[in-house]
Amino acid sequence: MPDSSENAAPSASAIPTEATPMMAQYLEIKQGYQDAILFYRMGDFYEMFFDDAVRASETLSIALTKRGKHLGADIAMCGVPVHSHENYLERLIRAGFKVAVCEQVEDPAEAKKRGAKSVVRREVIRLVTPGTLTEDTLLPARAHNYLASLARLASGSVIGLAWADVSTGTFAVTSVEPSGLGAELARLDPGEIILSDSFLMDETFAPLFDDHRNALSALPASRFDSATGEHRLKDHLGVGALDGLGTFSKVEVAAMGALLDYVELTQVGRMPKLARPERHGTDTSMQIDAATRANLELVRTMKGETKGSLLDVIDRTVTGAGARELGSRLTAPLTDPRAINLRLDAVEWGLDARGMRAELRQVLKAAPDMARALSRLSLSRGGPRDLASIRDGLAASHALAAHLTAVPQSLLPLPEIVTNISAALRSAAPALRSRLANTLSESLPLFARDGGFIARGVSAPLDEHRMLRDESRQLIAGLQTKYADDTGVSSLKVRHNNVLGFYIEVGPKNADPLMKSDTYIHRQTLANAVRFTTTELASLASRIADAAAQVLAAELALFDEMVAETLSHADDIARAASALGELDATLSLSELAAECRYTRPRVDETLSFAITGGRHPVVEAALLRDRAGTAFVPNDCDLTDKNLWLLTGPNMAGKSTFLRQNALIAILAQTGSFVPADDAHIGTVDRLFSRVGAADDLARGRSTFMVEMVETAAILNQAGPRALVILDEIGRGTATFDGLSIAWAAVEHLHEVNKSRALFATHYHELTALNEKLTRLTNATMRVKEWEGDVVFLHEVAAGAADRSYGIQVAKLAGLPSSVIIRAQSVLTALEKGSEGRKTTTLIDDLPLFSATAKPAVVAKENLVEAELKKIIPDELTPREALDALYRLKGLQGRE
Ligand code: ADP
Ligand code: MG
Repeated sequence: MPDSSENAAPSASAIPTEATPMMAQYLEIKQGYQDAILFYRMGDFYEMFFDDAVRASETLSIALTKRGKHLGADIAMCGVPVHSHENYLERLIRAGFKVAVCEQVEDPAEAKKRGAKSVVRREVIRLVTPGTLTEDTLLPARAHNYLASLARLASGSVIGLAWADVSTGTFAVTSVEPSGLGAELARLDPGEIILSDSFLMDETFAPLFDDHRNALSALPASRFDSATGEHRLKDHLGVGALDGLGTFSKVEVAAMGALLDYVELTQVGRMPKLARPERHGTDTSMQIDAATRANLELVRTMKGETKGSLLDVIDRTVTGAGARELGSRLTAPLTDPRAINLRLDAVEWGLDARGMRAELRQVLKAAPDMARALSRLSLSRGGPRDLASIRDGLAASHALAAHLTAVPQSLLPLPEIVTNISAALRSAAPALRSRLANTLSESLPLFARDGGFIARGVSAPLDEHRMLRDESRQLIAGLQTKYADDTGVSSLKVRHNNVLGFYIEVGPKNADPLMKSDTYIHRQTLANAVRFTTTELASLASRIADAAAQVLAAELALFDEMVAETLSHADDIARAASALGELDATLSLSELAAECRYTRPRVDETLSFAITGGRHPVVEAALLRDRAGTAFVPNDCDLTDKNLWLLTGPNMAGKSTFLRQNALIAILAQTGSFVPADDAHIGTVDRLFSRVGAADDLARGRSTFMVEMVETAAILNQAGPRALVILDEIGRGTATFDGLSIAWAAVEHLHEVNKSRALFATHYHELTALNEKLTRLTNATMRVKEWEGDVVFLHEVAAGAADRSYGIQVAKLAGLPSSVIIRAQSVLTALEKGSEGRKTTTLIDDLPLFSATAKPAVVAKENLVEAELKKIIPDELTPREALDALYRLKGLQGRE
């Protein structure tokens, strides 16, 4: 920890008399950024000192050095070059650090004027934190990076949750009950969460915050004040009252205010273009808690990879904005059938519009990420290429709008969503687009300060300065020949470097004629070259420098103008950018439906859940990819009347796959996607729960059975009639009878109290007896065939109960030693024969001993006798030895 370490930076008040002026400046600046690593600009490097240096050098594996002493001790130091600092910055951010970037904000020459010892003025220009990034190099292109803000009022338990993606301008807010916070955070998966110190300390939320440990940033409680928040929000929106924007509650205002405040703090006064905050009701999307999301592998697999997740398998988007939109939709499936059907209409339109879809996707492919470019420009962090992104994004928008206005009669009328997209694209700042197109040159530098990005013919004065600059360059090129003739030194060169500017260079042997002449002024003698200048060269050089400075100034002025003009159209551009994302996401779902034979689900307000020929989207895709020939076996599921299915069947038969596929079909349907089924009729699901028995949770150090029970408790306490519940082998994590009893009681509770639509997979086939008592319970089983003592999985769901669990057959398939299989078989037979009331110990006592039945043990014994026999060579034995050997053999047999 910084404070206890001997390398900790002393506080500013402790040192001023002893510190060098530069160190004093460093310490003063560092004072304001205690919890960040300070990048202190010195020339071409960002230097780090004291504890910052130690931590950064460890994380970045760079050399730790020393620079001078402070209070008698060495100052630890390390540094990264400015030109390649982004890579280091990225690694520090990923490692969970914040980085304060401190620049020199005046010319060193200016500082010198104040005296030889004065220090160049420096200021922190930005605090880089995980939730406020804008650089493409630091961000995943296809995923959102949210900053979330949590606020609470002393007077109530409801939590205000605001979130924003600073890189795209998304801004939204909602209120949640404490019990729903986990689900919301799991949905957003924020890069950073700000909250007050006291909130962070609240024990109730400890397990939840534990899950987001690396993202938490605690701030003083004063930053979450609702009255201050209201001011900030009004300021940001440029309104006098918040009433016109819908009704935000106090706690929501507090969360949004703190968020805006934090963004401003990290951007040091600059504010990115954030949209007007959108208010989300928690009842507008399907509630899916963190465990269910993880379990169903929606955007990440259990191993934490995006590859192999549902999103990965269904994603056919061709732009970053489209991928982000699809991700947002999938993580927050809708609950309103009308809204869902509007999306489905658009996807269906895209499916029918085959040729048109291909054309539109072709144009989309070329569309750059306007939202991110716009955000950088609004933070004065953009370059000419960001302007080009806006130019090309607007061009793509207009091209798409043109396509959409020229659709063939058969595809009319356009569905509502497509009509809205088309309108947003068509009206996107056409004048700006042509201005950018006419002004920017063909190839563009990364930074405006490098110049050369304004096309010829844009500005007459600019072109004039350019001509002067280029003419002078021509003249200088001509000087080389002239001076060579003049001096008779044919190897004479006119060259340029950053220290001398332009100079004349000859070899040491040829220097004499120039030294003697009045025209040539000696500048420098090196081992293998002597350098000169002339008044003519010097004046041409200064003309070039003047002209170049004028050129750059003119270009920068035009750059600022274009940025300002772009920002004046920010709303239009943002709208077009999100329309592009929506179009891409929609057509991606159409493409998916076409490619994978998905069908349109019927979604309404009933409590139906009828799937015919349903498939698991991810398992199906994996089978297609890995094992050509093995097709996925589709299965039906109808929870409409008998809304609780008890599914039995051996391990590996496909129970878990069946359970999950039905949950995924519900999610896809409410996302507004077609689904992997021949037919699906789904009454909207408001909450989805999925649990697997004895899930491994070693990382959090909790007993697996405890986790299983905590999660089951959450379901039984929360699931209502509109919920969909998937319970996979609950009760597996404890002893048989405990487990069976818990599973038994849970099924009854689901049936009698929750009344949710539910699928319950279990290996306790004793439970199937429940269907005599519970009227809405159906028994279903995974069909298997026995074939010459082996089990063959058909992956088919059929009515009825499994006759037994085939565990031993599965164990055999898995390659358990045959001695173990044989022994298990006999234990099982004995157990099954044993009538109730007899104690297990008696059962076990009745069983013959392991060695007596297991054949492999017999084999081992024969080997012993055999081995002994092999040692005997009869020809060499005396009669007495032969008799002894015989006794020995007899003895071996008796002993074993
Ligand atoms: P269980 O939960 O019954 O132990 P799983 O659902 O884990 O079984 O399925 C085991 C394997 O069987 C899966 O990994 C998958 O490869 C295959 N499988 C499951 N269901 C099907 C199906 N309907 N069609 C084809 N293969 C399937
Ligand atoms: Mg399973």
